[in-house]
Amino acid sequence: MSDDRYIYDLSDGDASMKSLLGGKGAGVAEMNKVGVPVPDAFTVTTTACVETMNNGGQWPEGLADQIAAGLARLEERTGRRLGASEKPLLVSVRSGAVFSMPGMMDTILNLGISDDSVMALAEEFGNERFAWDCYRRFIQMYGEVVESIPAHAFEDALTALKHDRGVENDTDLSAEDLKQLVATFKEIANEALGGEWTSDPHEQLNRAVNAVFKSWQNPRAEVYRRANNIPASLGTAVNIMQMVFGNRGETSATGVCFTRNPSTGERALYGEFLVNAQGEDVVAGIRTPRPLAEMEEVLPEAYRQLVDTMHKMEQHYKDMQDMEFTVEDGKLYLLQTRNGKRTAAAALKVASDLVDEGVITKEEALLRIEPAQLDQLLHPAIDPNHGKTAVATGLPASPGAAVGEVVFDADTAAERGERGEAVVLVRFETTPDDIHGVIVAQGILTAHGGMTSHAAVVARGMGKPCVAGAAGIKIDPVGKTLTIGEHVFNEGDVVTLDGSTGKVYGEALDLIPPQINDDFTRLVEWADGVRRLGVRANADNFEDASKARELGAEGIGLCRTEHMFMAQDRLPAVRKMILAENPEQRSAALAEILPMQQTDFEGIFTAMKGLPVTVRLLDPPLHEFLPNLVEQSLLVQKLELQGAEGPELNDARQTLAQVKKLHELNPMLGTRGVRLAMLYPEIPDMQARAIVRAALAVLDREGETVGVEIMIPLVALSQELETQRAIVKAAVEDELAKTGKTLDYTIGTMIELPRAALVADQIAEHADFFSFGTNDMTQTAIGISRDDAENGFLTSYVMDHVLERNPFESIDVDGVGQLVAMGVEKGRSVKPELKCGVCGEHGGDPDSIEFFNSVGLNYVSCSPFRVPIARFAAARAVL
Ligand code: PEP
Ligand code: MG
Repeated sequence: MSDDRYIYDLSDGDASMKSLLGGKGAGVAEMNKVGVPVPDAFTVTTTACVETMNNGGQWPEGLADQIAAGLARLEERTGRRLGASEKPLLVSVRSGAVFSMPGMMDTILNLGISDDSVMALAEEFGNERFAWDCYRRFIQMYGEVVESIPAHAFEDALTALKHDRGVENDTDLSAEDLKQLVATFKEIANEALGGEWTSDPHEQLNRAVNAVFKSWQNPRAEVYRRANNIPASLGTAVNIMQMVFGNRGETSATGVCFTRNPSTGERALYGEFLVNAQGEDVVAGIRTPRPLAEMEEVLPEAYRQLVDTMHKMEQHYKDMQDMEFTVEDGKLYLLQTRNGKRTAAAALKVASDLVDEGVITKEEALLRIEPAQLDQLLHPAIDPNHGKTAVATGLPASPGAAVGEVVFDADTAAERGERGEAVVLVRFETTPDDIHGVIVAQGILTAHGGMTSHAAVVARGMGKPCVAGAAGIKIDPVGKTLTIGEHVFNEGDVVTLDGSTGKVYGEALDLIPPQINDDFTRLVEWADGVRRLGVRANADNFEDASKARELGAEGIGLCRTEHMFMAQDRLPAVRKMILAENPEQRSAALAEILPMQQTDFEGIFTAMKGLPVTVRLLDPPLHEFLPNLVEQSLLVQKLELQGAEGPELNDARQTLAQVKKLHELNPMLGTRGVRLAMLYPEIPDMQARAIVRAALAVLDREGETVGVEIMIPLVALSQELETQRAIVKAAVEDELAKTGKTLDYTIGTMIELPRAALVADQIAEHADFFSFGTNDMTQTAIGISRDDAENGFLTSYVMDHVLERNPFESIDVDGVGQLVAMGVEKGRSVKPELKCGVCGEHGGDPDSIEFFNSVGLNYVSCSPFRVPIARFAAARAVL
């Protein structure tokens, strides 16, 4: 027998064992330790799941024996036996991942009920109806989850019986009815399994554990993990816990509560409960539950104890808790506690309040903020002055505004959402199977389900606006219509959801830019006090630069000048420059472009005065400014066929000839960046002059200008930089000499090709600074086209875990990251004070930021809306 330990009894665990026992297992063990009433239990470790996964689904040696022994101990402690005809033990078998994945994996309740034990349960509790209700629930849940019997088989039988009895609710069925239902369910199950239905509870327990293991790999769990960057290798624990019954009548209940409001962060009682129900009824959103405050009247003693426990657990964990509870015949049990999922606004408020309450330090508060989540705060909200009337109102389950076309199933939402179309997913209730649609939809609207339904919890975690339980809306998923009063919305009609008020509008409402609140300002200032990395923005116009500054950017790390060449009104001059037959003609065309570039730079420099701005000289290949080869060929053909003559045809032919001349099979590896400047030195000359003139104009006008940093792209050879530096320097000095003024400026380079990193010491001889272009560096180091990859194999690489993350999104630390580290080290071996930054997309990714901090970069530069995220991430990197 193997020595490995796969089972921990309730009293063996604690909060520190989360990676082994999962969040739920560690949570109940900790509650038990501090004296909170929890049902007795034992936990199968995540290691058992991982070993099973890695072993083709085969359990590791000893696991079955250890489960049997764990069960025997639980039986001993509770004085009950699984499936016995006297004092039977019933258990729940629940998943419990290390990072919570609400509703994504499987759970089986009431295991242990059987023909032998059902009457014993009825007699013990003096409630025959309850016992048969447990039994039919068990067959239904076990049948679906473990044996994969389609849910509708059971649902149809239940509906038929209710119809037959002339009743509407499950609770209106009598004991006799439920007994009959159990017989029908068993027939259904047996038929579905060709007579193989297992009725032995011990066998059922093993199968249930296995089903929970397997559910780690079900599609919705996969999708959820990918969306939340949870490694697939972690596996889930399985918790086997004595059942306590919330469905034993009017003195029993089950519910979910949060110690603070997870939408706003306010310190207020938040939760829901259902009398005479079992746990899944609340979170699955099938019955719309009652607000927690009403429990005070119905079950006063349990309510008071619950409120005390909530407070105690929040103090204990020093964070907002999300708890599940059951009241059995007036007695309270806690089934789970975890740090509650919350919106970004709530995260900031809770962290800020906990500091004021003296519960945590400022540093701890910063660690409570998930930087990527702040993205939510930076999205637009509904203009409060819209003056429109809502067509329906539901529960404000997850705040934010969503405008989109209604769709009625998750697959359509996923398909259209992935194409970038704005859709609102409308469902009677969402189930975890809808997760792929939820991720890409703008928002979610459901007719059923409460504030703590899985749909609501998942939506809040993602910052996805959600209006839940909108009673009064009618959904026909087959005919694809949503009926609200008189209004009928067909698939494709536009609605607006306000997840903060629960209101639904039958049209697209105007949105206003995000409003940054006081909690945000307070915490981001703490972050600034802690971080070492500077945070700049990538911006190439006045508006973006102003936004970036407003969001706290300390400069521009990348101003891409090609966008200025692409504006429609400039293209004629740009094309003249490209079509020029000699340097004189080219210089003449560039002289036309210069004032336009200067105007752009003046805008940016005005927005950023007092701060550094890195202007990168022209990067893309020239053909990008010309018409497409195929289109131009067709145009020439068309003109020829039409018998056109004269300048029109000549122009078209001349352009075609030029397009052909500049055409490259691999333009990304072609004549771009510094290579272009080497061929046409008039271009960097013009750009350097425009930069200087703009900087001086802003200085004259505003009394202050920016720290000018001129950057040469796509350098691979030190000679390239040496040549370009001389050209740029000569132009700058010439401009300054003409005006008799001085200006602080530096000339540096992008390090974005592997060779540049390898010879960074040689390149550093000619550079005042380095900025790592990790987009091109990823493209060229891994050899994946940045423009095509996501359409092809890269997506399946991520799906199949060949790669854990898309390397264009989060830096490939082992490969590309090492080139960055080497570039910094080699550069500073020549110039110890060499300023090094990063300006690829990775500059706004929290995980990459942590890496950049570790290799000693001076700053990261990212898009304006990611600046706050980067400020937090940079703080966390040092904490
Ligand atoms: C880069 O390559 O990382 C970079 C910032 O430059 P661009 O994205 O403009 O190629
Ligand atoms: Mg680049």
